Amino acid sequence: MSSQPVEVAGVIYSSISAAARAHGISQHGMEWRIDSDAFPDHKRLPAVRKPTGDHLVGRALVEPERWPFDGDLSRRAPVFDPNITPPRLVRRVGWLRCMLCSRPHFSEDVVGVRICFECGGEGSVPIGRISDLEDDDL
Ligand SMILES: [Zn+2]
Repeated sequence: MSSQPVEVAGVIYSSISAAARAHGISQHGMEWRIDSDAFPDHKRLPAVRKPTGDHLVGRALVEPERWPFDGDLSRRAPVFDPNITPPRLVRRVGWLRCMLCSRPHFSEDVVGVRICFECGGEGSVPIGRISDLEDDDL
């Protein structure tokens, strides 16, 4: 069994046996023609190699790097899902004010995460402090 594509008289077939069937001859007959100089329009084509591996596993989301807070609460960076063509915008990240304490915090989803870590939300540790707690781990 050969899955190598062949071209016979200008028509491309997926295999020698497919070409043989189409021309009503045996597979051996077709192989002989392809290898024979008497049939210059019968030739083998390079085998088509299917991509392996990469298409089987979903690729990770493209996460933008978190940037240091510079006072800009409007800057947003998109997160894309590269498994869809064209890549689909999944969410946006950026600095925004906590809905509870109003301090800026970095949100991995500016629509869904609007409460900072210290207020019990999913956002980052906020900038600045309400109490005298040390916030050196920012
Ligand atoms: Zn807060």
